[in-house]
Amino acid sequence: MEFQELIDKAKELLESFEQRHSETTSNVHWVTQDDRDIEGDYCENCIGQAVKNARKELKEEKQKVLAKFKEIENTGKFNGKKIKGKYTVADIKRAKKYELENLGPSKFDSTYNYGGGYESDSFLTCEICDKELDISILPNEQELEYSLEDLESGVIDDQTGYRAYSLLYNAWNEEDERHKEETVLTVKLATRVIEILDVNKL
Ligand SMILES: [Zn+2]
Repeated sequence: MEFQELIDKAKELLESFEQRHSETTSNVHWVTQDDRDIEGDYCENCIGQAVKNARKELKEEKQKVLAKFKEIENTGKFNGKKIKGKYTVADIKRAKKYELENLGPSKFDSTYNYGGGYESDSFLTCEICDKELDISILPNEQELEYSLEDLESGVIDDQTGYRAYSLLYNAWNEEDERHKEETVLTVKLATRVIEILDVNKL
């Protein structure tokens, strides 16, 4: 089979898996701290909790810093070591201010990928509930290999089917010299899908 024919055939076989699973995906949501995204991807149901968690974590970090400096102020020691005399009161004050500022502002909010199709080089799931997030995958060697591993057992579920479909849907052009390795893996992936799903085989 020709390259494109192979991909189209595999996609056709995977279509129902893709349709079912894509109905369950969510836009990618991020927590922002003072308008900057902070690490972590979340679904629409969990983003509220993620913002709360981030706020709580910052509060805890702040309390740790305050407790540390309180210990210094009260005892002149830190972690059992005497530090009083080594630093001036002004030094200690400055260090406290610096450490608190370093934690960042407590202005948390959230943002998400308006319109879907967020481009990513790896599949994403919500960090809290593991729900699949709606992304447009950039088929790289790693994700193609993972997908092939997923199909090793010969069983395709909605998620593995959806992911294989997405990789084939966004496949690099066969003529693209910079993506030869990916093209080889794409052919393997499409072939494997057909082996598993096509009753008439190849
Ligand atoms: Zn979630």
